[in-house]
Amino acid sequence: MSIATNLLQIKSTLPEHVTLVAVSKTKPVSDLMEAYEAGQRIFGENKIQEMAEKWEQMPKDIQWHMIGHVQTNKVKFMAPFVSLIHGVDSLKLLQEINKQALKNNRIIDCLLQIHIAEEETKFGLDEEELALLLSSNEFQELKNIRIVGLMGMATFTDDKEQVKKEFTHLKTIFDNISSKGALQYVSTLSMGMSGDYQLAIECGSTMVRIGSSIFGGRN
Ligand SMILES: *Cc1c(COP(=O)(O)O)cnc(C)c1O
Repeated sequence: MSIATNLLQIKSTLPEHVTLVAVSKTKPVSDLMEAYEAGQRIFGENKIQEMAEKWEQMPKDIQWHMIGHVQTNKVKFMAPFVSLIHGVDSLKLLQEINKQALKNNRIIDCLLQIHIAEEETKFGLDEEELALLLSSNEFQELKNIRIVGLMGMATFTDDKEQVKKEFTHLKTIFDNISSKGALQYVSTLSMGMSGDYQLAIECGSTMVRIGSSIFGGRN
């Protein structure tokens, strides 16, 4: 199956309120162009250097999402163009994004990553850390970032009940911060990948990050 066919097939199954991020990490520009020509405009990458190289080479109406863990010292390389940063999990990183956004005269949209999986290796804040961050004075001072929602990754397991429990947990946290109204722009809940996006949508996801089901497996 071609990239365009895969893409259109997946898109046809997504409800209208769900945004598709085509995760193109490790894939060549020619593959991304195939998806672009089939209408895709949002691409997700997990390495800043690679995303910047692709941004330079590709049409400028693409929205680039950083979905990987972000190193503070590399924020400056994506600050001129990144449209959404999914994996923000510390005040220190937010402060750096704010600083670089200011330098570029922009406001950069971010998602806070919440730790919902059992594995210790997955990054993210827990509920208490999230509350502390949002209520801190340091956070209130950041005028060049905008928190538009939350992101999470479920445990890598075949146990659907486990994954469902974790997605539901994230949705509950999302609803809590939305209802408090402390964050004006919260509307995005980024959860779900190739293996679990249907379940994620059932649990309330509004943004799915799909790579291998569109572009094929990665080495
Ligand atoms: C690679 C990656 C994806 C896409 O994974 P697939 O299983 O290929 O769909 C989604 N989210 C994050 C954070 C990733 O790193």
